[in-house]
Order: sequence, then C-alpha cells, then structure tokens
Amino acid sequence: MGGTFDPIHFGHLSMAESAREIFTLDEVLFIPAAKPPHKVEKNITPEVHRLMMTYLATQSNKFFQVSPMEFLREGLSYTLDTIDALNKKFGAGTELFFIIGADSMADLYKWHKAQELVQKVHFIAAARPGVEVNLDELQKFFGAEGMAHIHQIISPELEISSTELRERVKAGRSIKYLVPEVVEEYIFKERLYLP
Ligand code: ATP
Ligand code: MG
Repeated sequence: MGGTFDPIHFGHLSMAESAREIFTLDEVLFIPAAKPPHKVEKNITPEVHRLMMTYLATQSNKFFQVSPMEFLREGLSYTLDTIDALNKKFGAGTELFFIIGADSMADLYKWHKAQELVQKVHFIAAARPGVEVNLDELQKFFGAEGMAHIHQIISPELEISSTELRERVKAGRSIKYLVPEVVEEYIFKERLYLP
C-alpha cells in the first residue's frame, strides 16, 4: 500500500486490514511515497516523520510491515518502479496487490505507464466517502483484461483525509479517534502541522 501518509490515519489502516482479510494476504507492506508525481509542487512533511508515523501506526498489527524503499531511490517515485523492485525481490512465486482508495482508482489511468502497471499487479480498491468512480472510463482505457486486475472491495468507509487532519492540527482542533494514539502523540511531540 502506497501513500503520502502525511499523516497516516485510520482510513488507511482500516482499508489495509479489510484488503488483507478479504484477499487473505500474507502481509501488507506500507510504502510511504518519497515524491509523489502528483504532489511535486506541494509542501510535504520530511520523510523521516512520515516514515516514523507509519512505523508507529502499524506496529500493533503483525501482518503490517513498512518499507522505506521509495525514500532510498533517486528522483520521482513511480509505482511501476516499486512493483518491478518488489517482483525482483520476492520472485515469481509471489503475487502482488496494490491497495488504493476510490479517488486513486478514479485516476488510475493517469498513472505512469498505467497499462503496463495493471498487467504487473492486482489493484484492490476500497470505497471512499464522497468519491464516485467512473467505471466506463476505466473500462475504456484498460479493457477487460486490465479490469480483471482491478478489484473493488466493500469495507468500512471512513471519512478521514490527511488534508483534513493537517488542517485540524493547524487550527488547534482535535484529531483523537481519527489517527492511532501513538501517531497523535508523535504529531504533538514533533510539533508537526502547526501554523
Ligand atoms: P491527502 O489528503 O494528503 O491526499 P489522503 O488522506 O488522501 O491524504 P494519501 O496518503 O493521499 O491519504 O492516500 C494513500 C492511499 O489511501 C490512496 O490510495 C487513497 O485513495 C487512500 N485513502 C486515503 N484515505 C482514505 C479513506 N478515508 N478511505 C479510502 N481510501 C483512502
Ligand atoms: Mg490523497
């Protein structure tokens, strides 16, 4: 599962656990994105903080692991490069799934070398409140073969976004019950997202 995780929240964790359970995945690897191509121009919290919060948030689930692999690579992070690297590492006996939310699914066709990517990995897409996915548009782009690698799951829909969490902290509002306590503590200890 990739993401900016700025910060990681219960929306991310809950969908990852649902995907793991529904697809009986052996493990879920959380890979914080170094420089997401679609967020190049935005201010992103330093990698070390996003990585630490991801470690803290996932430590209580024995199926959850974290990889800093995208931080160790030069340049922009493309999911295709990450999938190639993971395929090389784990070999042909391992099937890879990439977990995304509905908003990511909706613009999957815009991703770097999307057609090639969808051949190499299965996507598990969770619903997200307020997001409608235009399946016809995706179908037209990926065709039946590509669509066979995109799986929608039914999972709890949590209306939480990192953007809203950053705004809440900035405004001095509570983020309790939206992120794990360890993440909340880390944010306040490191004085993240303050004006
Ligand atoms: P931001 O507001 O900064 O974009 P975000 O909450 O969307 O943050 P990301 O790190 O951008 O979180 O998302 C990583 C992945 O998790 C994406 O595929 C996104 O669609 C998915 N995701 C994030 N939050 C939710 C949620 N509440 N429900 C379903 N999917 C989600
Ligand atoms: Mg997002």
